[in-house]
Amino acid sequence: MNSVVVNIPQKLLTPAENETFSGLFNAGVVNAGPDVYDFKTPLTWNVVISNTGDGLLATGTVQGSGRVNCSRCLEPYDQSITGEVEGFFVLPDKPAPKDMEGDEYEILEDTEHLDLAPAMMQAIRMALPRVPLCREDCKGLCPICGTNLNYHTCDCAENAAKKAEAERKAESPFAVLSQLEFDENGKVIGKKTPATPGKDNVKDTSENDSDAFLESQSDTSSAFYSEDVPDFDEIPDLNDTNHPQNEK
Ligand SMILES: [Zn+2]
Ligand SMILES: [Zn+2]
Repeated sequence: MNSVVVNIPQKLLTPAENETFSGLFNAGVVNAGPDVYDFKTPLTWNVVISNTGDGLLATGTVQGSGRVNCSRCLEPYDQSITGEVEGFFVLPDKPAPKDMEGDEYEILEDTEHLDLAPAMMQAIRMALPRVPLCREDCKGLCPICGTNLNYHTCDCAENAAKKAEAERKAESPFAVLSQLEFDENGKVIGKKTPATPGKDNVKDTSENDSDAFLESQSDTSSAFYSEDVPDFDEIPDLNDTNHPQNEK
């Protein structure tokens, strides 16, 4: 970490005096959890140092931007930040503040200079977003094909929904019944022809399976079409590959 040494002017040793300082701070590469920010150009800072009697209080801002990978689309972008700098430096021979934790202040060994870098670094860390996003509405990557959805589209989500719908239909105990036509007494009188053939391209599996089901039934029992509707628990499990009716 680079130091940001401020030479303390003599007048700042008088209580209630203050002085403004500014400059550049080279933060370099900052690791924040899983994210890595590369501050390629130095950040600008502006700090007022005032004498509180027992110490020197530094308050101000540090501004700049670091390159980081978006956590949704993984593309690098420049994240700009403004950090609030705050540091307290206890003057030599003065008591340490009782209302502060030990890591919230620094005890000066001399009254000639102080280093603002630790306070600056803390300000930068506090200003980093918890989840870096190239833009608030970043669409991220398709989890299936990896397409960056900010720039391109893919059919994965649509296809997955269609597949799930087809599987849901195939698993339904009514899949076979939905292909049959019944008379008013509940007897099977025939097989439905699809109302809009070809329009829905996910009808495939259940229809093919029920065709095979009907054919195998008519092979062994030509009276199938006049039989009563089978009970639901007699309907073959179309997903059971061990079932004789599903053998190819
Ligand atoms: Zn993004
Ligand atoms: Zn995709």
